[in-house]
Amino acid sequence: MTSRIEAPGPRLGTEPAPLESHQLFNARHAEAYWQQATRCIDLVRRKVAEVERPFTGARPEELRGRFEAIDLDAPLGELRPALEELEHVYLDDAVYFHHPRYVAHLNCPVVLPGVLAEAILAPINSSLDTWDQSAGGTFIEQSLIDWTAERIGLGEDADGVFTSGGTQSNLMALMIARDHHGAHQDRPGGNKQQGLPADHQRLRILGSELGHFSLQKSAAILGLGYQAVMPVATDADYRMDPQALKARLEECIALDLIPIAVVATAGTTDFGSIDPLEEIAALCREHGIWLHVDAAYGGGLLCSRRERHRLAGIEHADSVTVDYHKTFFQPVSCSAFLVRRGSDLRHVTHHADYLNPECQALAGTPDQVNKSLQTTKRFDALKLWMTLRIMGADALGEMLERVMDLAGEAHARLSARPDIEVLLEPPLSTLVFRYRPEDIDLDDASLDALNAHVRTALSRHGEAVIAATRVQGRRYLKFTLLNPETRVDDLTAIVERIVAHGRAWCDGAATSPAHAAAS
Ligand SMILES: *Cc1c(COP(=O)(O)O)cnc(C)c1O
Repeated sequence: MTSRIEAPGPRLGTEPAPLESHQLFNARHAEAYWQQATRCIDLVRRKVAEVERPFTGARPEELRGRFEAIDLDAPLGELRPALEELEHVYLDDAVYFHHPRYVAHLNCPVVLPGVLAEAILAPINSSLDTWDQSAGGTFIEQSLIDWTAERIGLGEDADGVFTSGGTQSNLMALMIARDHHGAHQDRPGGNKQQGLPADHQRLRILGSELGHFSLQKSAAILGLGYQAVMPVATDADYRMDPQALKARLEECIALDLIPIAVVATAGTTDFGSIDPLEEIAALCREHGIWLHVDAAYGGGLLCSRRERHRLAGIEHADSVTVDYHKTFFQPVSCSAFLVRRGSDLRHVTHHADYLNPECQALAGTPDQVNKSLQTTKRFDALKLWMTLRIMGADALGEMLERVMDLAGEAHARLSARPDIEVLLEPPLSTLVFRYRPEDIDLDDASLDALNAHVRTALSRHGEAVIAATRVQGRRYLKFTLLNPETRVDDLTAIVERIVAHGRAWCDGAATSPAHAAAS
């Protein structure tokens, strides 16, 4: 501590003990950051090289014990033992999304520029709420919002903000749709000032029955309740049926209900199905209803020259959700919410004297907090920025095309098998199917139990991580493909293991009372 200034003489009270500040990131410790970051990266490098399976299959009760021995009030003092401990409690049994046989959820393998951005944004620690905490970071975020809005075709007045994910983006969409409706009533300050309108029980949100559950959650948070979400039936391809939407809208009119938003999904979580956006937009225009397009999953199509046409009609949306941490291959979190008319974001604006006074907005200071539910906000935009500056959008689009091709190929292979029932030719990159042995007659309940068992067994053995879902009440298995390095052989190998675990279950179950009762 060479620069420490000695007190000139005896002082009143006690001198504070010298601060253990050698862990503070600053100019003196930038060298330590570099050295220690190298060790962290080295651990990751070694671990990823070692990993043979996407997951060890550890159960919660097997991992819980490791944490009981750790006293958080007894720090280890330095990096090396902390990394050793972390390897034991976390990395040894982490779920590895880079592994070609991780094919479960929409969490993706990540591109290097996005990962490297984390090494920059964490130490600099910009907070993207106000200009005076982010400076150029604000323009990086804004440029990416403008870039995304332009790819969607939202027009000159579009605006938006980065969010923590599709869930927050959908909440913003429904909040703005609700307050947009509230603003048309004779109530100064609208919902923001007055709270919910007297007719709030009659407000309705119409979304495909396969829409994301964050719609229900948002409705509850917004004081409308789950009851406000009206499911709209889907067609044989799991897309919202415009005729059903039309009928729902007429039903609203007949029942004196007030539809405030239609949510179209561009890429349903289970099927990847893309609702017919043109037709839905036409109905929304006709009825003067807010159209939100949830493109959390399908948003990556914006980067694909070959597949962009699948999003045709998205340009009519009043608002859009895009998750860069899904089909743009960015590390969690990285997501955005966009609106056609930037002025609609005023519904989330609140001016605080200490942070973002109104005079600052009037003077043209670009404070992102004026458009956001969050205050302190990560500089997630830097990840997409680095990705576009290094790789470009075409490269991302090609990665998505690769996984779409893979899904198509896997669909062809699986459909050819008599013992696999595939539900749908994949519109994006998921494949929903179930194992149904052709030589054993199993009722629905037994098929459910069989498929549930198969999924658990795969994960337990660490052979693959796959997802599951229910379709019309029945259990199905799901591949969500986001890894452009997964090969169709990986998938057929997983199917072989599914069959092996399934046959073993059938053999065992044949003697069990449950099966005797079922057959
Ligand atoms: C994943 C997903 C969401 C939720 O996004 P998060 O980033 O997980 O919050 C919303 N809608 C759809 C269609 C999704 O697939």
